[in-house]
Amino acid sequence: MDFISTKNHLNKVSGSYAIVHGIAEDGGLFVPESFPQLSQADFDKMLEMDFAERSAYIISKFLTEFTYDELLDFTKKSTARFNGDPAPVVKIKDGEFMLELINGPTLAFKDIALTLLPYVLKACAEKQKITEKIMILTATSGDTGKAALEGFKNVDGVSICVFYPSEGVAKLQKLQMTTTTGNNVYVAGVNGNFDDCQSAVKRAFTNPVFVKQLKEKGYILSSANSINFGRLVPQVVYYISAYLDLVNSGEVKFGDEINFCVPTGNFGNILAGYYAKQMGLPIGKLICASNKNNILTDFLTTGEYNLNREFFKTMSPSMDILISSNLERLIFELSGRNDVLTKMRMDELKKDKCYKITDEEKELYDKQFVAGCCDENETIESISSLFDEIAYCMDTHTAVAYKVFEDYKNQSKDSRKTVIISTASPYKFVTDVYYAITAEHVADAFRATRKLMNETAMPVPESLAELKTAEILFEDVISESEIEQTILNSIK
Ligand SMILES: *Cc1c(COP(=O)(O)O)cnc(C)c1O
Repeated sequence: MDFISTKNHLNKVSGSYAIVHGIAEDGGLFVPESFPQLSQADFDKMLEMDFAERSAYIISKFLTEFTYDELLDFTKKSTARFNGDPAPVVKIKDGEFMLELINGPTLAFKDIALTLLPYVLKACAEKQKITEKIMILTATSGDTGKAALEGFKNVDGVSICVFYPSEGVAKLQKLQMTTTTGNNVYVAGVNGNFDDCQSAVKRAFTNPVFVKQLKEKGYILSSANSINFGRLVPQVVYYISAYLDLVNSGEVKFGDEINFCVPTGNFGNILAGYYAKQMGLPIGKLICASNKNNILTDFLTTGEYNLNREFFKTMSPSMDILISSNLERLIFELSGRNDVLTKMRMDELKKDKCYKITDEEKELYDKQFVAGCCDENETIESISSLFDEIAYCMDTHTAVAYKVFEDYKNQSKDSRKTVIISTASPYKFVTDVYYAITAEHVADAFRATRKLMNETAMPVPESLAELKTAEILFEDVISESEIEQTILNSIK
């Protein structure tokens, strides 16, 4: 299977090229030339498989340069980093399920893709006969950074630089990143928000002077952000896997449609759900949940994507994003894969901070998506009411999704079963979660962790407990204009 750029369909490359380079030279995002279709026989086979096997099976449909067995070796190594099943489906109420993607090394759903990407990327570089080392550039709203650092630290032939908004991440997220050991890692805060970090990193990719300077130092660039198709494809797996688990447990009859509700920032997670649907998974609605930064809710309601708005810092910081990169891939599909139109709209977004899709495109999209948002008080209320009702404790991002799902359930007559995607451990956002449950403010994250454990009896993940005594290794805070020089300086 080949891949094409959203901005030029003639720019056609192999899967290994798309993953090694992360982004097309024309600034577009790589998408599969077509969506592989899953047959009844495929589903029947996968019903019997575990997560690592399903993962290799599905990924092999996209990355056809690899055999199932090659991929299985990688997916087994990736799932071994999880505490138990990487993607368990937990029933919380009749017809309502949580897909808990929170048991990886950094306690957020990004671990699913980022424990796997290093193996896939190395193998892709071999196929591409790349002789240079690979520099992974990562902009993070909090969780991608640590997940990428854990995946790539001490990997031979790879270096990784992570840039986070210096004042825009939770305290434990920051500690997770700045205490990372490893001989090939560099972490810095950036004065600005996530959009500033992401835009600066994207510019670096397409700045020929910088690319040349790096090359002289023996490096080519790649990305661990969800602009890289290698991040998206492992995420397609858990939608399909969750469905199969529900069939196996008798909750769903094969062929029945179910909904997924997804807490959304950069549109990577939910786009993977859309891809699963394109492959033939019986999905009804994809419910796109936003926090107070509700640009996607407005887009899904009006068809206009308008960046002229205030940016808010919220208690679900991994969703504090206004420029949702992966929406470009959806726009491309809705336009009937029109690369010229997609490029025009992305240019408009840069120049005028705004673009609008047509009524026909919006109709297509309305058939498959619904959107809603949730403010800060509602996030707290969502955590506390579900905990009071059934003693289930959610993190702040998952709480946004749960609230938006409840609103949809109450407003629509949709009785299909729904899977809510749980994207982070409550312990990662412990001060807000503890406040939601007890109405008591405990500013110290480690004290709040002890107290939340007493309140909920949920075991505290070891990796967080260790942070208390870990040494802080990275304290730099830079301006976005210094990103390129900082990367060059980080090379030893
Ligand atoms: C990254 C993240 C999200 C948003 O996912 P996108 O793929 O950016 O839409 C939601 N919740 C958590 C905890 C995250 O880390």
